[in-house]
Order: sequence, then structure tokens, then C-alpha cells
Amino acid sequence: MKFRVLGCSGGELPRHRTTCFLVDGRLAIDAGALTASLPLAALLRIDDIVLTHAHLDHVKDVPLLADLVAGRRRTPVRVHASPACARTLRRSLLNGELWPDFTRLPDPRRPALEIRTFRPGRRFRIGPYTVLPVPVEHPVEAVGLLLSDGRATVGVSGDTGPTERFWKAANGEERLRALLVELSFPSTLQRVADAAGHLTPRTLAGELAKLERDDLPVLLYHLKPAYLAELKRELARLALPNVRVLRLGDAFTL
Ligand SMILES: [Zn+2]
Ligand SMILES: [Zn+2]
Repeated sequence: MKFRVLGCSGGELPRHRTTCFLVDGRLAIDAGALTASLPLAALLRIDDIVLTHAHLDHVKDVPLLADLVAGRRRTPVRVHASPACARTLRRSLLNGELWPDFTRLPDPRRPALEIRTFRPGRRFRIGPYTVLPVPVEHPVEAVGLLLSDGRATVGVSGDTGPTERFWKAANGEERLRALLVELSFPSTLQRVADAAGHLTPRTLAGELAKLERDDLPVLLYHLKPAYLAELKRELARLALPNVRVLRLGDAFTL
């Protein structure tokens, strides 16, 4: 599985793009940085997008991608979303007001997008991949993901505060090769992080203690760019083993 980081930040600034990972050039996890990262030919090869939740920094390029690929693909781009996320996309984004309804456009028989609902906790297939969406702790319905191609599995925590289910699912996954875990605010903003369903280095350390393996690379993402320096200083003091911050443009084969 080829894994490429198109966006790994909790906010957008020059050189910081919001959450977006590309798997084998054809499947995206979250859509925070598709259209600013890839040329049209590469965007046209994306058949599936799996969304962790409906927050704007994770879905913003779904409508922009639809506009670019409308009429240029034989099949719709499948957007895999939890029930609440799918509802938000339909009601609040592709509602004919904020953006055209590309699940019916440019032609209801050949739309640019198809929204497919998955059930949190229930494994589902996308082509050669299986995806286990695991409910996590965030103000809106949100999932972490365990994505496997049959040989290797990668875990993505999604936006979450302290949680049990994601770690339990990760511990049960034999072929797990890497874990991408969110980290958003410095511990000086612990109350903000707790209220918003995010991790600080302090709560991250507690979360990593739930992992039963000590050999897995843990790659942090979703750091808020306004607090990046403070976050990195705090992480350096903690010196958590096997943990590093993901960088824009990182690519690895699992
Ligand atoms: Zn969020
Ligand atoms: Zn987010």
C-alpha cells in the first residue's frame, strides 16, 4: 500500500494543509487538501473518498473536486461517510445553496458524486481494501479508520479526544504497520482540547499507553499551526518512543 500525505495539519496556512491522505493514488482518506495538491489527471483517478467526519477541514474538497471532475468520469466518485456525516454533506454542503448538489449533477443518471453510508463499527469493502470505521470521541459523529489491503493495515485515529474503542480495535489488528494519531493543542489548552474532542501531548501520552505494541511507528497529525512551536517543544520534552510528527509530502509504502 502506497500512502501519501497531502495534508496533515489542523488548519490551513501556506505550507500547512488540512487532513488528506492518498492511498495508491486512488483512494483518499478525508478531503482537506485534494484540489490544491494534485493535478487534474491525478484527481480524475480518485474513485473513493472515506471521510472520518463532517467538519470542514476534512470535507472541504469534496465539493471542489466534484466541480472539477463533473462530466469527465464514467462513474461517480464514491464518498463513504457515516450516517451523520452523509446527512451533513447533503443538508449543509451539497444543498443547492452553499454548493450545487453534485449527487444529481451534471446529470442525475451520471452524477459527479455518490454518497455511500457506512455503519460505524461495521467493516466494509472498497475494491481491494477493507475499512473498519471505529467510533471515536468528537463533538460530531466521527470515526477512526483501520484500512487494510490484505497485506498491511494502517490506522488513522480521526479527530478525537481520549477514547478506548480505537485502541482496542488497533490492538486487535494483526497486520498493523503504522498508526496516524491526531494531536491538536498544547497541554496549556487542555480544557479547549477536551471540549473540542482533541488530544494534547498530555492526553496523547495516556492514549499511547493503551497500545499493546511498542514497535509501531506512531505518526502525529492535525497539529494546529498557530500552536506548532509550542506543540513541538512539548513533544520534545516528552520524548515519546517511536513517535514523530507527520510532514506534508511524506510518502511511505506499507
Ligand atoms: Zn473535527
Ligand atoms: Zn479536524
